[in-house]
Amino acid sequence: MGSNPIGPTDNAGSVSPGGRPPGLALPDNHVHSQWSHDTGPQASMAAACARAVELGLPAVAFTEHLDFTAGGPGDPITAAGLAPNQSPGIRPLDVAGYLASVAECRERFPALRILSGVEAGEPHLFAASAAAVLGSGRFDRVLGSVHALPSQGSLVYSGWLLHREPPDEVMRRYLAEVVTMIEGSGLFEVLAHLDFPRRYWPAGAAEYTEAAFEEEYRAVLRALAGSGRVLELNTASPLPSVDLLRWWAQAGGTALSFGSDAHLPGHVGGRFREASGIAAAAGFRPGRDPFDFWRR
Ligand SMILES: [Zn+2]
Ligand SMILES: [Zn+2]
Repeated sequence: MGSNPIGPTDNAGSVSPGGRPPGLALPDNHVHSQWSHDTGPQASMAAACARAVELGLPAVAFTEHLDFTAGGPGDPITAAGLAPNQSPGIRPLDVAGYLASVAECRERFPALRILSGVEAGEPHLFAASAAAVLGSGRFDRVLGSVHALPSQGSLVYSGWLLHREPPDEVMRRYLAEVVTMIEGSGLFEVLAHLDFPRRYWPAGAAEYTEAAFEEEYRAVLRALAGSGRVLELNTASPLPSVDLLRWWAQAGGTALSFGSDAHLPGHVGGRFREASGIAAAAGFRPGRDPFDFWRR
C-alpha cells in the first residue's frame, strides 16, 4: 500500500478553509490484527488502536477474517459439490483469544470506541459454519466478502483467476457472485470491497474502467440497497469514482462505511481524507453521530 498519506498533524474533525468536509473523524470499520490469518508479525491490535487515537479516529472495528477450509454440515458449499479454498495459511478464527484481545484494548484505549467484528468470506457458501461462529460471541460489525470464486470444482482466489482467465470475464463472474452472496446470506451488514479483483488487475490487460462493468455494478448495488445494507468504501482498493457512488445512491443506497482494510497498524485510516472527499461529492454526509455510517 505504500506510505500512509495521512500525517498525524491532520486534525480530526477540522474543516479546511475551503469548507471541505472533515477527512479523518470517521470510524475505520475494516481493520485486521494479529487474529487474521493473513497478517504478518507486525500486525497488532494494540498498535492499530494507538494509530487510530493518533489520527483522531472516533472508532475502529477489528473485522478479522472468518474463512473456512472445510464445509460443515448445512453449509451450501457441500451441497454444491465445491471444494473450499485450499490456499495455504487459511485457518479458523480463535474467537476466545480475539475477544479477549478486544477487551484488553478497550481497557487500554478508553477514548476509542473499539468494535468487534469479522469479515465473513463467502458467507453464502459457509452459512452454517459462519452462523455458528457469530453465535459464539458478540460481534458488532459483520462484513461480507467474496474473495474466491468457483473454478473447476473448488474456490480459488479471484486475484489469481485474473491471471488465468480473461480478466473481464473474471470480473463479471465476481460481481455476479457478489449478487449471489447478498441474496444468499443475511449474516452480514456491510458489503466489503465491492470490486476486490480490481486490486490485482493485470498490467497487460486493457485499462480497468468502471463503465465497462456498469451493468454488473448496478446489479450488485440494487441487490444491496434492496436488502437495506451498507456499501463499504474500501481504501486499500483503487478508490471508486464519484459516479460509482452516485450509482449506489441511484440504486437506493443510503449508507456508506469507510474501511482501510489495514493489515498493518500504519495503514489504519489510510486515504480517508481522499475517500471522504469522493463520498461528499456524491452527496454522502456524516451520520447521526461520529460513530455512524455516512448517509444520504
Ligand atoms: Zn477482504
Ligand atoms: Zn479485509
